Amino acid sequence: MAGSSEVLVRLLGVTKSYPQLDHDIRILDDITLDIYRGQYVALLGPSGSGKSTLLRIVTGLTRPSYGTVLYRGEPVTGPHPDAAMVFQTFALYPWLTVQQNVEMGLLGKGVPASERSRRAALLIDLIGLDGYENAFPKELSGGMRQRVGFARALAVDPELLCMDEPFSALDFLTAENLRSELIGWWHDGRLPIQAVLMVTHGIEEAVYMADRIIILSKNPARVIADIANPLPYPRNRKAPAFLELTDHIYQIVTGWDRPAATLWTVPEESAKPTLKPLPQGHLSMLSGLLELVRDRGGVDDLYHLGSELFLEVDDLLPVTETAQLFHLAEVQAGDLKLTALGEEFVAGDIGRRKAIIRSQLKDIPLFQLIDRVLRTKANHSMARDFFLDILEENFSPKEAERQLATAINWGRFAELFHYDTDTELLFLEEDEANQSVQA
Ligand code: ADP
Ligand code: MG
Repeated sequence: MAGSSEVLVRLLGVTKSYPQLDHDIRILDDITLDIYRGQYVALLGPSGSGKSTLLRIVTGLTRPSYGTVLYRGEPVTGPHPDAAMVFQTFALYPWLTVQQNVEMGLLGKGVPASERSRRAALLIDLIGLDGYENAFPKELSGGMRQRVGFARALAVDPELLCMDEPFSALDFLTAENLRSELIGWWHDGRLPIQAVLMVTHGIEEAVYMADRIIILSKNPARVIADIANPLPYPRNRKAPAFLELTDHIYQIVTGWDRPAATLWTVPEESAKPTLKPLPQGHLSMLSGLLELVRDRGGVDDLYHLGSELFLEVDDLLPVTETAQLFHLAEVQAGDLKLTALGEEFVAGDIGRRKAIIRSQLKDIPLFQLIDRVLRTKANHSMARDFFLDILEENFSPKEAERQLATAINWGRFAELFHYDTDTELLFLEEDEANQSVQA
């Protein structure tokens, strides 16, 4: 693994839970790892997995519920002076110039004014904003503002540079330029930093930039893989070795020979009966994905499918998980393969497709529950909040909302039940309620 043998940051059993009404939701579970001097580390995980939380814990902005963070062997107990953070969108002070914004980080550190302005000028030069010292943020493009964000973080001479999805708010070309420039600065040794910890949900971004990739699961986040990336810089996204590593990581995050859902969404262990989380796959995207696989002869590489559909792994995986949940496709060694039912689905008209989804939903506990409740009620209708309460036993309030939105979406599509957005009622028509459950 690249880097020296000197441990800069050590995480020991870091665990974080947030309290809910009657129980805690565990976000991070027993995360133990060392980050060495000289490493560029990517923390790769799906949205909502707890990456930002972990980064805040490393920099001392948040305390873990259990476990310890050591920085050069010393426990971190508050905001860490040797770590700096770059956020997704950098909150610059609109009333300050570029130069003044960069100098902000040095105020209160006892650095004399002349030294502040000298250091800021050097960094502004380094990040390519020479000539914009006196510009105000509103005069800058998004990419230029993020450059100021980098300069401001670097001004304090941090040993550890933490970045939370720093390129995800930028347009494609701007992001790509800034990525390669940052790697250049890091490698030519002009940055004062000793290690980089970058949070991302982009597999390619991690392979492009990092020399070590740590993969987290979700619900709760655990380290599921820790991979060295020895590809030489500058990296070429089209190089066979690049594609191979990217493909390898896709295989890990889709669970190799296990169903994807068990990896990116490990259900919380709990004494209560758990409703497994539904993947957040849109049914229109599901149809599009399966049709594309059909056009490719019934099987294709997930990585190719993702780039063909311009989907990031975060958007692609829920759709492939949905396809697996409905038994329409299988994931094997990074390939998505249509099942016989999947072939029937893509060949079918909308009526046939709805019938297939309907029969699959009847095997899923949440839909069985909804169906049972609606059939038992005399008026065959029930408020959405009733189901939301049940879901909140299993999920955080935000996740419960998402789960219910997906359930309502799927159920309406499959015509398993109806939903009135004005009254917020789920209901069955009288004749549907009288049909056999086995229909
Ligand atoms: P990521 O950065 O991977 O998208 P986050 O670390 O932002 O994930 O959040 C992980 C989970 O923790 C989310 O479900 C989020 O709602 C929850 N969470 C984050 N901060 C808090 C908080 N202060 N209180 C309660 N829940 C939180
Ligand atoms: Mg985040």
